Amino acid sequence: MTVSDRGGKQNATPDGTLNAESHAFRSALEVVRSVEPRIADAIAKELNDQRESLKLIASENYASPAVLLAMGNWLSDKYAEGTIGRRFYAGCQNVDTVESVAVEHAKALFDAPYAYVQPHSGIDANLVAYWAILADRVEVPHLKKFEKRQINELTDAEWAELRQAFGNQRMLGMSLDAGGHLTHGFRPNISGKMFDQRSYGVDRSTGQIDYAALRETAREFKPLVIVGGYSAYPRKVNFATLREIADEVGATFMVDMAHFAGLVAGKVFTGDHSPFPHAHIVTTTTHKSLRGPRGGAVFAQPELSGQVDRGCPMVLGGPLAHVMAAKAIAFAEARQPSFQTYAQQIVTNSQALAEGLTKRGVQLVSGGTDNHLVLIDVHPFGLTGRQAEQALLDSGVVTNRNAIPQDPNGAWYTSGIRIGTPALTSRGLGVAEMDQIAELIHTVLAGTTPDATSKAKFHLDPAVADRVHKQAHELLAGFPLYPTVDLG
Ligand SMILES: *Cc1c(COP(=O)(O)O)cnc(C)c1O
Repeated sequence: MTVSDRGGKQNATPDGTLNAESHAFRSALEVVRSVEPRIADAIAKELNDQRESLKLIASENYASPAVLLAMGNWLSDKYAEGTIGRRFYAGCQNVDTVESVAVEHAKALFDAPYAYVQPHSGIDANLVAYWAILADRVEVPHLKKFEKRQINELTDAEWAELRQAFGNQRMLGMSLDAGGHLTHGFRPNISGKMFDQRSYGVDRSTGQIDYAALRETAREFKPLVIVGGYSAYPRKVNFATLREIADEVGATFMVDMAHFAGLVAGKVFTGDHSPFPHAHIVTTTTHKSLRGPRGGAVFAQPELSGQVDRGCPMVLGGPLAHVMAAKAIAFAEARQPSFQTYAQQIVTNSQALAEGLTKRGVQLVSGGTDNHLVLIDVHPFGLTGRQAEQALLDSGVVTNRNAIPQDPNGAWYTSGIRIGTPALTSRGLGVAEMDQIAELIHTVLAGTTPDATSKAKFHLDPAVADRVHKQAHELLAGFPLYPTVDLG
């Protein structure tokens, strides 16, 4: 039902010859093994581990063999600081081709006027965006005031004034316990050291963003930047409303779609729920629901594109041309009609999982989901997120703990379990399997007894863990992962 090279029927070669993917990966491992066998073994073992695990981590996926293979080559040898056609190094014609093709597919995929595909990760994409905004909103007006063309012409006093101004800017982003991300202005991340941050959260009764409170905070706080986007919020966001609020207070509106880019690409999120018609600037990762290589990208309205182009060397090192090649492949794949089917199935599966859990009495934050993830409140089981996460892992179910709104156990132990369907949907699992997974999760949570002396320890009957493990294994056996890849 989805892309055949990641899930579905095992692609046995009828005439006994080795197919192209198997041949490519076997040969590559042989070459690696000749230098350091432990690395070749770890790579091969990773495939095996991924095949055996019931992966419900909402931020992970399985990239296609074409995406993986596009990364392993001599494009990695090239320095190409700068932008397409304007490099600080000679001999970048092939990198120019690679980056141009990636940009062409990215723009077409998201119907965006401009795309920047150099960021090495989601954090980097956000840093590029923040500094593009700071350049546009703080640096440019200061240069105008000082009547200088560029920062190297500023006097020491002017430069000191500008540096002060950079540090005095405000950001409004989603709170961590409502599902926001560290890079949205929180102190452990550099964004929290750059900006004076205030958060918006969710309404206690509905678990959904409290837009009225957000508007009130924006009016009072007057941020330079409003950030939309999340890593653990199970609902749609109304980006049209966020833009309206940003316009009202004169803020630049940025959306970090790192988690749900695949749902935007696959046209599940459209209109008010797509960031594209509304945000001034959009950032993403490429390896989560978008199913590409590990990396990031930035999209911007034309008025910000010149500043985004300065991402390297502003905050980025030389672009990873081999990863940009893989991004081009992933964007091209996501432009296929089958990707829309995939994206729709992610949400159908997520809702089936939510329903399966709910009907077994499991409590979900906001009562359900509109996207690729479900947030379980494990508090009613007397468990912390940490205990639940480990009990599930001991039973062969891979999830991660996550804070829930107003979490009584804080950000480390937490009271939530975040589960997501992008990876298992790539593998071909559907609604019926989601109900079985809900049963497995419920069995583990209901069978786990917390240890009264510790927020990390618990007791789970080994027979229960064993049985769930076995059932998860049987479930996955019907959906071979990377069926075209046989390492022998
Ligand atoms: C995952 C994520 C990031 C960070 O991505 P990395 O590639 O790990 O740097 C940034 N923002 C959001 C909302 C995310 O979910």
